[in-house]
Amino acid sequence: MALLTAAAMAFTTSANTTAEDGPRSSPEAAIKALMDGNKRYVANKATSENTPSARTALTETHEPIAAILRCSDARVAPEIVFDQPLGGLFIGAVAGNIVTPEVIASFEYAVGVLGAKAIVVMGHRHCGAVETAIEFRNKSDQLPGSLPMLIDQIIVPCALDTDPSDVATQEHEAVICNANKGVGQLLARSTMLAEAHKTGELTIIAGVQDLKTGRFTVTSE
Ligand SMILES: [Zn+2]
Repeated sequence: MALLTAAAMAFTTSANTTAEDGPRSSPEAAIKALMDGNKRYVANKATSENTPSARTALTETHEPIAAILRCSDARVAPEIVFDQPLGGLFIGAVAGNIVTPEVIASFEYAVGVLGAKAIVVMGHRHCGAVETAIEFRNKSDQLPGSLPMLIDQIIVPCALDTDPSDVATQEHEAVICNANKGVGQLLARSTMLAEAHKTGELTIIAGVQDLKTGRFTVTSE
């Protein structure tokens, strides 16, 4: 509770103390910084340098421009894909980029205490978790260990509503659905994030990374 109280108090002040220009000045500026970084990455013109001096400068604090909910997949690395330096992105990682209570609490901290201006739910093509959800949509109880608990959160509604006649399209549609679903869940399940979104201090978007090109495409409305 103490952390959340601190987060709530800090959010109240952070909204008024981020008047500088740059990617932390507004949600729109944060999203622009991410998309510009992705363009550099796709063009093989990334500029972020993680030097020892830059690392040392982050010892006392960090001021991320955005929080990213990414899949645990080893091919999904937001700092690389968005060409951002160490300290620039606050990361929540879970297979299938699903929204969990722990992710929500982490992002409330990122927004309320650290002043992040954007949240991105980052899906990706060829997602093993989504592919598993499609394959096991009627039989997730056959999966080992704790996997059914995770996969069930992707199955409904994103795997059930896809056309099984076209595997590639089916996977793509389910990945988009699963990422977009995360936006609504964050807003519905966090009063703090919903309030920040309502007042314009925060934007929450979803999108999908194409593993082949590296391009990140916004999929949420
Ligand atoms: Zn994945």
